[in-house]
Amino acid sequence: MITRFAPSPTGPLHLGHAYSALLAHDMARAVDGSFLLRIEDIDQNRARPAWEDQIYDDLHWLGLTWDGPVMRQSDRLDVYRETLNQMWWDGLLYACRCNRKDILSAASAPQEGAQIGPDGVIYPGTCRNLPEERDHYPSPPPADAALRLDLATLPQGLFDDARFTDEGAQPGTYRVTLDALQREVGDVVVSRRDMGTSYHLSVVLDDAAQGVTHVVRGADLLDATPIHVALQRVLGLPTPTYHHHRLIRDTAGKRLAKRDDARAIATYRAEGATPDDIRRMVGLLPAA
Ligand code: GLU
Repeated sequence: MITRFAPSPTGPLHLGHAYSALLAHDMARAVDGSFLLRIEDIDQNRARPAWEDQIYDDLHWLGLTWDGPVMRQSDRLDVYRETLNQMWWDGLLYACRCNRKDILSAASAPQEGAQIGPDGVIYPGTCRNLPEERDHYPSPPPADAALRLDLATLPQGLFDDARFTDEGAQPGTYRVTLDALQREVGDVVVSRRDMGTSYHLSVVLDDAAQGVTHVVRGADLLDATPIHVALQRVLGLPTPTYHHHRLIRDTAGKRLAKRDDARAIATYRAEGATPDDIRRMVGLLPAA
């Protein structure tokens, strides 16, 4: 078993992160597997070295050790670019220059109202059929546009047996179909204009590169998993087992967000909590 913890260094780790990391770590260690760490720092507008340092510090304090070198997404921009070039030359992508306002107004016309999927408003396909946005080999994709996966170019057969197993809070086997992707997600952005990649593409390439067998993460990402399975199919990568765990909520039952600094591990540490106190708070140890 190979599990991983993949935080973004855009704020302090809070109790929800601690739960993810501890769970992924404990699952792997229980069967002599490996626990890996990956820093998801592709959003260079928000990632900060100081947050990355705090992540290492908090994880060490929690008593977690990881195997092998840390993978940093900012070191892998070439890998993402090569994959995108290949997808572009294979005719799977088109460039999209719509901004949020364009998408919203096109998606809400004529009267239906925009539909929201796990990746935002379902793209109405404005740029899909513009020949100038699919100017392929040998030119690389334009750097000043987003790149979308053109679901309509994918063969139905690619999704025969496309499914994933979740062993987490909502266990089951989930089917992934082209129909459902078209209806519920739309032509997903695989490269953002400001990043040269996207969360979805990077996470899929990195989980495969790290040989991750069990993806442990919060249930808020369950809706993104069909997108990841679709990309695994397109790229010929294996689908790991998923374990989407319950979300840690605050006492009012609200989901914890990065800005809830009151729930930051660093705050608990400063207040004198021990690592076992954190384990108790997230339900990994019985209450004292
Ligand atoms: N980097 C993501 C986050 O911090 C997690 C991605 C994942 O586990 O797939 O929310």
